[in-house]
Amino acid sequence: MTAPAIDAIQPLTSLTEDELLLRNGVREFAHAQVRPLVREMDEHAKFSKTLLGQLFDLGVMGIEIPESEGGAGGTFFHSVLVVEELSRVDPSVGVLVDVQNTLVINAILRWASPEMKKRLLPRLADGTVGAYALSEAVSGSDAFALQSRARQDGDHFVLQGRKLWITNANEADLFIVFATINPEAGYRGITAFLVERGMPGFSVGKKEDKLGIRASSTCELILEDCRVPASNVIGEVGKGYKVAIETLNEGRIGIGAQMLGLAAGALEHTVAYTRERKQFGKTIADFQGVQFQLARAATDVEAARLLVYNAARLRDLGKPFLTEAAMCKIFASEVAERVASLAVNLFGGNGFVKEYPVEKLYRDAKIGQIYEGTSNLQLQTIAKQLLS
Ligand SMILES: Cc1cc2nc3c(=O)[nH]c(=O)nc-3n(C[C@H](O)[C@H](O)[C@H](O)COP(=O)(O)OP(=O)(O)OC[C@H]3O[C@@H](n4cnc5c(N)ncnc54)[C@H](O)[C@@H]3O)c2cc1C
Repeated sequence: MTAPAIDAIQPLTSLTEDELLLRNGVREFAHAQVRPLVREMDEHAKFSKTLLGQLFDLGVMGIEIPESEGGAGGTFFHSVLVVEELSRVDPSVGVLVDVQNTLVINAILRWASPEMKKRLLPRLADGTVGAYALSEAVSGSDAFALQSRARQDGDHFVLQGRKLWITNANEADLFIVFATINPEAGYRGITAFLVERGMPGFSVGKKEDKLGIRASSTCELILEDCRVPASNVIGEVGKGYKVAIETLNEGRIGIGAQMLGLAAGALEHTVAYTRERKQFGKTIADFQGVQFQLARAATDVEAARLLVYNAARLRDLGKPFLTEAAMCKIFASEVAERVASLAVNLFGGNGFVKEYPVEKLYRDAKIGQIYEGTSNLQLQTIAKQLLS
């Protein structure tokens, strides 16, 4: 057996020069520009317009868009690093960037026609936010039971129905909307359409008042005889299920990254606090009981990072990653909840009030186990592979 060259094997968490530059740049940005806004955006449940513009200027709203189309020409792993770093400071900012890159741009890069790509990618890289609308009141986990209808009328489709829980809906101008051309055909009727704000018959409805990630908008979409040009079909008519399945498989690695960032942020705050807070004449970090809790949390964060990075690197290498993506999402979201909960405990009374950052992170953590496939659905994916 020949041993591989020692530098041919890289630890998962070792970053290339490019990756390191990006991570450090986004980390600095998050501290300087995002942190001062976190509390206000959470309180008012409103994303700062200035911050949105700055995210475009930073180049993180079009990470995988080729440079020739105005994007950063980066990798999926770059998106994961960006989402992790932003979520360390504010998971609401993390998810806005995540949906833009890992769902919307990803779907367009992979499924849209060359004409559509030319039309959309430069916009998405330069000021236009996207949203991804699959869920409805009756179809969440059972996403392909959706009821929104699309009827062909000459060179247009006419869309009718309501979408629920749509992230970025307030900020977005472009919406990937899934509807069926034939409910009897089951998943084979589902088609992906590009709907633009301002199209007749399209409107953004009620905004949800949420437990966490409050600055991230979550709204209903209303389609009332909404006329969409047939040239706005993404992929093929009746093949929208493929667009949905494949983008969501990748998107859930992004949610893993969001939850990883949240956990890392909560741990960072907790280490700092426990080194400051004194009880019984010592800092609370001097107590072995506290040290062991912090050590366990750090181990959890590292394990989540390995799962998330591995899934993202597999995806960039074009290797199978379905099970790894499900594992990274369920694990990272559970770690986020555990570490944020410990953070609240170790902040004591200060963990329970809005003046300190961990109360918000505890609320934000819960969503990781719900969107882009609940934890039970991730377990279903893992078990299916295990037992096949
Ligand atoms: C803040 C937020 C943002 C969102 N953003 C978007 C978005 O941008 N775009 C979009 O399309 N959707 C979005 N969603 C919707 C989200 O993806 C769904 O809420 C999620 O898929 C769960 O669907 P549901 O809410 O209908 O729950 P249900 O599917 O009704 O699930 C309820 C419970 O039943 C369990 N369950 C269901 N089926 C099974 C099964 N077969 N086996 C075992 N357990 C099962 C689930 O695990 C869950 O615990 C968002 C939701 C929220 C809350």
